Amino acid sequence: SDPLVREPLIERLEKLAGLHWHAEPTFPAEEPGEMAPITMPHDLTREVGTRRDATQEEVDAAFERAAKIQPGWDALGGENRALLLEEAADLFEEHTDEFLSLCQREAGKTLLDGVAELREAVDFLRYYAMEARRQFEHPVHLPGPTGEENTLRMHGRGVFATISPWNFPLAIFTGMASAALAAGNAVIAKPAEQTPLIAALAVKLCHEAGIPPEALQLLPGAGDVGQMITADPRLAGVAFTGSTETAQAINRTLAGRDGPIATLIAETGGQNAMIVDSSALPEQVVRDVLASAFQSAGQRCSALRMLYLQEDVADEMLAMIRGGFHALNVGDPAKLSTDVGPVIDPDAQAALERHVARRQQNNRIVWRLEIDEQLAKGCFVAPTIIELDSIIDLKRENFGPVLHVARFKASELGQVIEDINATGYGLTLGLHSRIEATRRFVQARAKVGNFYVNRNQIGAIVESQPFGGEGLSGTGPKAGGPHYLARFATERVTC
Ligand code: ADP
Repeated sequence: SDPLVREPLIERLEKLAGLHWHAEPTFPAEEPGEMAPITMPHDLTREVGTRRDATQEEVDAAFERAAKIQPGWDALGGENRALLLEEAADLFEEHTDEFLSLCQREAGKTLLDGVAELREAVDFLRYYAMEARRQFEHPVHLPGPTGEENTLRMHGRGVFATISPWNFPLAIFTGMASAALAAGNAVIAKPAEQTPLIAALAVKLCHEAGIPPEALQLLPGAGDVGQMITADPRLAGVAFTGSTETAQAINRTLAGRDGPIATLIAETGGQNAMIVDSSALPEQVVRDVLASAFQSAGQRCSALRMLYLQEDVADEMLAMIRGGFHALNVGDPAKLSTDVGPVIDPDAQAALERHVARRQQNNRIVWRLEIDEQLAKGCFVAPTIIELDSIIDLKRENFGPVLHVARFKASELGQVIEDINATGYGLTLGLHSRIEATRRFVQARAKVGNFYVNRNQIGAIVESQPFGGEGLSGTGPKAGGPHYLARFATERVTC
């Protein structure tokens, strides 16, 4: 870090906010308290660390510090905040080894997934830095009556909370926090209870980069800590990623408060389908189906849950999928040969096993892999393919390596899309077809945030593929897209 860049920033901030620069970090906490062990998803007998949940007093104190620094942080302007976020991006890259190791031990991620995760986090930091410069440094000059100088300026809304999930413990955590910071908010960040250590490393590096500890505070804990944070009347907005039910609960909490009308930016679940017609290239379908359904052990919001195969090619496609499916390697995420690692915790594992057991009773299991007995110490779920009549039969999101398959006739394509829309989710939809008219037909009807054509449907690339859904899948705007920061901001017009 270049002291020439940093020193004046610190001085300026101190002047602006009258703040005390070196505040105590809130995590890991020094004070005694009940420590919850954090175990490794692939081996529950091993601990990665411990977590102490934030108390109501700590939530209060965090709000107080955040509210005090926020005007100064906002007044720094887009350019200065961008420099700090870019400094953090560099530090993240310098700590690649620590991040990859934590992704594997705390979140059960394979090396491939860990690399993608870190890459995305760094891309978010750099992209929102760029957007801070573009949207928050200079006012927009508006045409006004003669002699009037009308301007519109973007400002942070105040104290923003980010509540993040365990499935992208680094990328989503960093993405939401850096967006809120870039827009000029002070941030109270609550990571998922399963993955606070990755978040703690990210926050530590952000502080080392020069982002004031008061402007980015980490409050570890479970849903009750999230509840305390969202119930606070000083909160100006929440960026949330997680389940639809939790987003709805947060909405209710926000609605019950006196205080500023808080913004909720929510990115939630999906019931993601892929439609494959008879013009599709089988080799490509096999590769994309397996990646979309089983990469990250199916624990991606965008992951494929429901594959629709056109009847006349269904048997041929399934025969080819079978080969690739049986070659999937389930195991220790530290091994380079592993394709499918563990799911996050015993609760997730049990929910998936219940789902599979119900389908087993109805003889709807197409294939299920055998997994090695040595994996019994971890939360492994055998990749499974289940036959269904329609996506309507899927009542809840099955967040793991379980894929459902249904067949459809060419004349039923319109109905298939209606059924997919009827789930109420609207995150991702894949289509494999070489017929342009089919592509246009599906695109015009599908109510989804991300429509993937002739490719896999895993995720998003910051800037070129902004990501997010609609309906039960979230509020938008898309993470990694040009409109995201605006939801974290307020506009002030001078005329
Ligand atoms: P997942 O299914 O991904 O575990 P959750 O929606 O349960 O999704 O969790 C996502 C995040 O929301 C986590 O950080 C969790 O602690 C937090 N959370 C859970 N319940 C609440 C709540 N009532 N209010 C605020 N945050 C919550």
